[in-house]
Amino acid sequence: MLGDHDDGGIEAGRLEAFATRLLEAAGAPADTAGLVAESLVRADLRGHHSHGTRRIPSYVAAALDGRRDRYRIDPAARPTVTSAGPTHALVDGRDAFGQLAGREAVDVAVETAEESGVAVVGVRDATHLGRIGEWSERAADRGLLFAAFVYNHGVTVAPPGSAQRRYSTNPVSFGIPTFDALEFPVVLDMATSQVANGKTAEFAARGDPLPDAWTVTDEGGSVTDARAFRDGAGALLPLGGLVAGYKGFGLAMVAELFGGIGADAPVHGEAETDRGCAGTFLAVDPTLVGDRGTVEDRVLALREYIAETEFSGAVPTGPTAYGDRALLPGEPEHLTERAGREHGIPLAPGDVATLCDLAVEHGLEGAIPSAFDGATAED
Ligand code: NAD
Repeated sequence: MLGDHDDGGIEAGRLEAFATRLLEAAGAPADTAGLVAESLVRADLRGHHSHGTRRIPSYVAAALDGRRDRYRIDPAARPTVTSAGPTHALVDGRDAFGQLAGREAVDVAVETAEESGVAVVGVRDATHLGRIGEWSERAADRGLLFAAFVYNHGVTVAPPGSAQRRYSTNPVSFGIPTFDALEFPVVLDMATSQVANGKTAEFAARGDPLPDAWTVTDEGGSVTDARAFRDGAGALLPLGGLVAGYKGFGLAMVAELFGGIGADAPVHGEAETDRGCAGTFLAVDPTLVGDRGTVEDRVLALREYIAETEFSGAVPTGPTAYGDRALLPGEPEHLTERAGREHGIPLAPGDVATLCDLAVEHGLEGAIPSAFDGATAED
């Protein structure tokens, strides 16, 4: 779901400063808090509020006492590279904030691929790796092809034909560098279920009904009450839903096996772990097989071809479409970020109130941005 900028919003820098203070209250050193806040605000800027600052209360709880999340975050920990060779590395997230683990893993992948042409980097014990597209953008901005296969030990999604929650929303993400051809890298970043579980939390917080196509029940129906779904009713459908869910299921299984084998981390069915995400990142230098100009020409050719698609007007375009224009993956996020930088980031009033209440709880009233004046959970 992409944000609506009609009502304006908060300036990214102010939100980042506020988020940093809240994360410091969870025991994060200033540099860690700053990096995590930067990732969360970037998710808000790019329209993925499910992985933005609305996560802070659960991160703070997971850092202070592990109560509200499946895993505990060690707010002072830093990920480490535990093994490395000419084309591979393994990063131990060490239960630090997952945004640090993701950043470390992608930076090692970039350095390795710049040196050797290709890189395979596993990351494990990474708490919550956040918005996986951030890692694709980071590698593509450095001129590399990138792929991420990620999973965790949550259970929210049912295999096709079932309504039993059995595995997680196992995201995959791919990045394609565009150099000077476009203002943004091509980035596909998606859950392998109909939707990321974090989006159901957003719907529940707003009191909005879930679309029918997202969930399934034992009776073959769906759960539209988002709060009931959050309380355990039904299950998320794999991507492709009731008609072609076997494809999303297949992608999810591949993400878990590719991710777990490359990271030497347990998958579902092995020893239970509640240490959040694991995954495998691949980075490839495209100039191994051509030059930068060829990459630019290919991206532009495909984009122009797709842009010439005819739209009849009678075909429903879905919630994230931009009218009668076909976009490349990553383009909606680019447009949303551009609007957010111009007009401010639009946050849901309930999320703002929850962040302000958290600030008050930690004696940080003075850190609340003036744009949020008067926001409390009772509003
Ligand atoms: P989504 O359904 O909004 O799909 C996003 C992808 O579709 C993006 O690549 C976007 O560019 C593309 N897209 C959307 N509309 C488009 C259009 N009109 N034209 C072309 N491309 C379009 O997202 P989702 O699957 O609900 O996932 C949301 C977020 O959740 C992602 O950032 C993902 O990384 C994250 N996630 C994280 C975890 C985790 O464990 N850390 C798990 C699942 C999902």
